[in-house]
Amino acid sequence: MADTFDYVIVGAGSAGCVLANRLSEDAGTSVCVLEAGPKDWHPYIHLPAGFIKTFHMKGINWAYQQEPGPWTGGRSIYAPRGKTLGGSSSINGHIYNRGQRQDFDTWAQLGNRGWGYPDVLPYFKRLERRVGEGEDTYRGRDGNLTVTTMDWRDPLCEAFMAGAMSLGIPRNPDYNGAIQEGVSYAQRTIQNGLRVSASTAFLRPAMKRPNVHVRTHAHATGIVFDGKRAIGVRYVKGGKSGTPTEVRAAKEVILAGGTYNSPQLLQLSGIGPGELLQQHGIAVVRDLPAVGANLHDHFNTYLVWRCSQPVTINDLAMSAARKVQAGVQYALTRSGHLSNAGIYAGAFVKSDPRLETPDLQINMFGWSALERLRTGIKPHPFSAFTLSPVHLRPEGRGTVRIKSPDPLAPPAIQFNFLASEYDFQALIYGARLARQIAAQPALQPFVVEEVIPGRQCETDEQMKAEIRLRGVSNLHPVGTCRMGRGADCVVDPRLRVYGVEGLRVADASIMPQVPGGNTNAPSIMIGEKCAAMVLEDSQTGDIDRQAA
Ligand SMILES: Cc1cc2nc3c(=O)[nH]c(=O)nc-3n(C[C@H](O)[C@H](O)[C@H](O)COP(=O)(O)OP(=O)(O)OC[C@H]3O[C@@H](n4cnc5c(N)ncnc54)[C@H](O)[C@@H]3O)c2cc1C
Repeated sequence: MADTFDYVIVGAGSAGCVLANRLSEDAGTSVCVLEAGPKDWHPYIHLPAGFIKTFHMKGINWAYQQEPGPWTGGRSIYAPRGKTLGGSSSINGHIYNRGQRQDFDTWAQLGNRGWGYPDVLPYFKRLERRVGEGEDTYRGRDGNLTVTTMDWRDPLCEAFMAGAMSLGIPRNPDYNGAIQEGVSYAQRTIQNGLRVSASTAFLRPAMKRPNVHVRTHAHATGIVFDGKRAIGVRYVKGGKSGTPTEVRAAKEVILAGGTYNSPQLLQLSGIGPGELLQQHGIAVVRDLPAVGANLHDHFNTYLVWRCSQPVTINDLAMSAARKVQAGVQYALTRSGHLSNAGIYAGAFVKSDPRLETPDLQINMFGWSALERLRTGIKPHPFSAFTLSPVHLRPEGRGTVRIKSPDPLAPPAIQFNFLASEYDFQALIYGARLARQIAAQPALQPFVVEEVIPGRQCETDEQMKAEIRLRGVSNLHPVGTCRMGRGADCVVDPRLRVYGVEGLRVADASIMPQVPGGNTNAPSIMIGEKCAAMVLEDSQTGDIDRQAA
């Protein structure tokens, strides 16, 4: 006999942890969470600077590799994802950014009633405990997720911000408030020098409740259907040789496996493009071509300057004495480079003044690295810092498709980055703006010379070649279980999978369009809003009404 719970959630990531917390608030409701990875015990998860290690750490990272991109010089770009309690929020760069008001209004205009900015703002406020600047109209003060602003004044960051301001970019005290545009220190999910993940903020408190059951090392391999109704999930513990086990959902199954894994699990379970499923001998439960389509992500490139003062993380990595000093500072005051992931400040700007909102984020890193190799991030062996323009409105769209019926095999992840001229032009504008910032008097006490790409890279064509060669995914993939109405969508605006019953998806995969900002906050908001809808529908008995 399979165990039965009211709700079975697949994936304890940014969205899954919130769902587990909110759905179990009523002691009479039982919740089971299946997480493929281990508990989030590893110290590098919790030390903010451990980011550089967890970026490639097998065991807590799916460490996917994208299919070679036709417009990125045939390169296969690395695609990390968290595989532990907290999911990607346990290995991410800590930046807390909701995106722009207009992002959510656009979602609503695409047919997603209830997802406009005024609708999602209460969920953003509910989830956060903002410490620091921000108007109460926009910011929450009592939620689970602590959001702080970098609490030490770094001379290089100050110079970066002064440089940006001297070009007319305004200082913005709260980019998660009324407007995003401007330059500021990064807001972060870090408290007292420790990571705040969806696990530490939402799951751990919920795990104290007897009605919450979290199974780690539990890799979901398929959804169990009774006709068109999802009634449970199959999973294996301990890899290929593990015993297949089944868990039943009396009310609903909710997929929160993320942008790569949720569409994969749907396809493995017979929901996806019919021709793909047949090709792999999978019985079709529902032919839904949109499952795995609409994959997109921000795309970014890097410019690196050699620095004349030993104030960067590279300097720390090069010197045993500085490491000891940073260790002592961290131990005594929970501050300094070890208390951060190295992304210290940023600017949101428009690549064209005619745009309504920013389409570029210029991130300032207090370090620089050799390419983000699969084998690890290695800081350059010289003092340096990075400015990284990120294109927030990418036009290329790709797919996630199973390569085999083996549920433990990775899917094919095909992005099609740089598919349009705008994808290049925005980044070229961003790279030139980064150079202008670095050339401002405020940064002259720090700048020796540009080392990447170097001043020989000047014309549009040279810049394009550079972006093709060096550009990478900004680690914000979304869209593969697109929410909306119509044949190109997978879930309706209440996140119910079209054509079946008792099954929802709630994670970054449902975003119809990537927001103009980082994606952890919106993913957590999606978990909050989904939980509210699930509870509402269970009251009204509206669980199974399908929009199409
Ligand atoms: C290295 C890195 C840096 C990033 N930096 C930032 C940043 O600074 N700021 C920001 O806002 N965003 C950042 N992001 C992105 C952000 O963290 C993600 O967009 C967000 O966490 C996605 O949430 P999710 O709920 O969709 O999926 P995830 O948080 O990825 O959760 C999915 C969970 O499901 C589990 N799972 C998947 N498949 C199965 C299965 N078959 N069975 C059981 N469990 C399964 C996974 O192991 C995982 O725990 C970063 C991401 C990465 C990888």
